Amino acid sequence: ASFGFRDVAVETKQGMVDEVFHKVASRYDLMNDLMSAGLHRLWKDAAVTWLAPPRGRPFEALDVAGGTGDIAFRIVERSGGSAHVTVCDINASMLDVGRERAAKRGFSGKVDFVEGNAEELPFESGRFDAYTIAFGIRNVPRIEKALAEAYRVLKPGGRFLCLEFSAVDVPLLDRIYDVYSFNLIPPMGKLVADDAESYRYLVESIRRFPHQERFAEMIRRAGFSQVAYRNYTGGIAAIHSGWKI
Ligand code: SAM
Repeated sequence: ASFGFRDVAVETKQGMVDEVFHKVASRYDLMNDLMSAGLHRLWKDAAVTWLAPPRGRPFEALDVAGGTGDIAFRIVERSGGSAHVTVCDINASMLDVGRERAAKRGFSGKVDFVEGNAEELPFESGRFDAYTIAFGIRNVPRIEKALAEAYRVLKPGGRFLCLEFSAVDVPLLDRIYDVYSFNLIPPMGKLVADDAESYRYLVESIRRFPHQERFAEMIRRAGFSQVAYRNYTGGIAAIHSGWKI
């Protein structure tokens, strides 16, 4: 299917996003490594380091748009096994891959997989110590709704952490990044997943996502305090943090 994502109505965007991740689920982890040259691993490490899940006491984390489990596994590992993570994703194909990986790596009982929409989370209010979302929020049609839900499901004192592609603010790197993403990513998608269109969507969605400062403001407006962000690799990725006080 060929679709232009540029001007899709908010009502139809989710269906298109779901189609993309159903198609790429089995190749998703491989594509991540190839297209980011492994960098996504370092960014995810950085996110979980900043989260600093405590060792030796219970810690309930929710990883939304958690896909194949990368953030969840890191949280459990960093906590020394005392954290429990619920992975919530709208896409059953991604969750299937995640469940399989969790079983293979011995995370059963430490990580649960739940199908659900970031805009309408299937969890009661005030349940989690942390809410994480990595490379997920830009796929959600109504970001404000997702932020409000993040706030709702967190306990008072809970932590919000979002890893997302962001705006490059380093001269020359921005040019190289443009050429790379518009000219090289779609053909790589074609080669590895036989799907250039999905990867064209990926590049477009990154460009349309609000810049660091504007996104920080959206997080504040959702009610979070002490909102801060850190850039990685010149802003190719950024991590935003906030607290529910
Ligand atoms: N967090 C994983 C990672 O960093 O590798 C997966 C990121 S993947 C780029 C984006 C994920 O967002 C997909 O698994 C997709 O199914 C999920 N997603 C898209 N829209 C969603 C929504 N409205 N609610 C929950 N998950 C959603």
